[in-house]
Amino acid sequence: MTAENSGLGRLKNRLAQISDLESAAAVLSWDQQTYMPPGGAAGRAEQLATLARMSHELFTAGGTYSLIEQAAGEIGGVDADTDDAALLRVTYRDFDRAVKLPAELVAELARTRTLAQEAWTKARAANDYPAFAPWLEKLIELTRRTAECWGYQDRLYDALVEGYEPGTTTAQVAAMYADLKPGLVSLVQAIVERGRPIDDAVLHREYPVPRQREFSERLVRDLGYDFERGRQDDTTHPFCTTFSVGDVRITTRFDPRFLSQGLLASVHEAGHAIYEQGSPAELDRTPLRGGASMGVHESQSRLWENLVGRSRPFWQHFFPLLRETFPEALADSSADAFVRALCKVTPSLIRVEADEVTYNLHVLLRFELENDLLEGRLSVADAPAAWNAKMQEYLGLTPPTDAEGILQDIHWSIGIMGYFPTYSIGNLLAAQLWEAATGEIPEIPAQLSRGEFAPLLGWLREKIHRHGRKYLPNELIERATGKPLQSGPFLRYLTGKYTEIYGL
Ligand code: ZN
Repeated sequence: MTAENSGLGRLKNRLAQISDLESAAAVLSWDQQTYMPPGGAAGRAEQLATLARMSHELFTAGGTYSLIEQAAGEIGGVDADTDDAALLRVTYRDFDRAVKLPAELVAELARTRTLAQEAWTKARAANDYPAFAPWLEKLIELTRRTAECWGYQDRLYDALVEGYEPGTTTAQVAAMYADLKPGLVSLVQAIVERGRPIDDAVLHREYPVPRQREFSERLVRDLGYDFERGRQDDTTHPFCTTFSVGDVRITTRFDPRFLSQGLLASVHEAGHAIYEQGSPAELDRTPLRGGASMGVHESQSRLWENLVGRSRPFWQHFFPLLRETFPEALADSSADAFVRALCKVTPSLIRVEADEVTYNLHVLLRFELENDLLEGRLSVADAPAAWNAKMQEYLGLTPPTDAEGILQDIHWSIGIMGYFPTYSIGNLLAAQLWEAATGEIPEIPAQLSRGEFAPLLGWLREKIHRHGRKYLPNELIERATGKPLQSGPFLRYLTGKYTEIYGL
């Protein structure tokens, strides 16, 4: 127990209040994206801005740093492998980044983001990149200034990646892609040139939404998502959000003519939510609750979505139930044909619709362009041409419009740079964790085919979930798998699976 009036006690109390403010903001934001009527938008923006300002002020206010120092003295330093030492390390890391940005820069960023996002929405709808270009220019300038405030050793991008994937450098990300790129490009080529064609028409029949909803809830409940501590609602862009360990919600979107989109979005978001629900209750209302990083978080959603949800054992178990649910649409299909349809690979223009083989090439392109733009090797005016050239090189396609090219993602319009690589880190880590888990428990695939998900979930709980944010991602990965993050498991997984599916 921590004494209430010790430095540690007072720090924990302050952090708990900040967590409450952030959770309250998360509830408002969840409501905004699910049930709020359009008329609520202006008021909600004010409410969220007020809560964000209050939690930022409470965190960066005088006293937080001395409380951290005092608490560190009380527990004999911050290096021990205890929850309290981890709390101080994580809090100091967050604090250091928060106080390095001058208030004037934070305010300018917030204003510019709102306006740039509006401009981007219109520019994308009108396929008018030049209308967005001045905003992109301004955001790059502000992002450079932000990175300079945070500081970095080697590359400006290091300071940005650090915010999403602490302890990871640009050089490490570049090395990851250098390993990945040749294998991915040649696998895509082999599939396109020699693959046995896959017909995925079965996914585009009539699938009434109420039955999709019921089936998806059965799916994620069986995987381990706890509805006593969560719920699923409809939204436009699916997400997962946490208010406390006892209330972690998922959202999804069902399309009556595209079965897999809604089902696998549910499984993906449930993967995030199962991770959050796995945080120990005693970490609630502290910065240690939740995921180690964006990449580690994404590894959980992708593991359940792709390595489990697009696998034959999984559908050996669930396909009979799926066919009972949709007897008309699936009368002439089989588990095998259904899995093949789910695993169709098609080089395409849009990242969020990409399959698991081509996906990382979309992200690599963005990583390279972000660095070129930030480090001045590429001008904003020349960026669309550079985008299109890389699409041709990596995927053999040239976007017919900028709306389907450089304007497709929201990230840059809201000033988010350095985030994209976390998607690839998630994909790689999902495969590395899968290899480690099935190495220790070789029966996992057979268990999945019988609908037994608890052993895999138990392994993830033990190795990843129960640690919350206590360890830096690299340390957590080494502890869980015995190795640093590697591309080998992911390439082995893709090559094995798709060689068989496409008869290569
Ligand atoms: Zn995700």
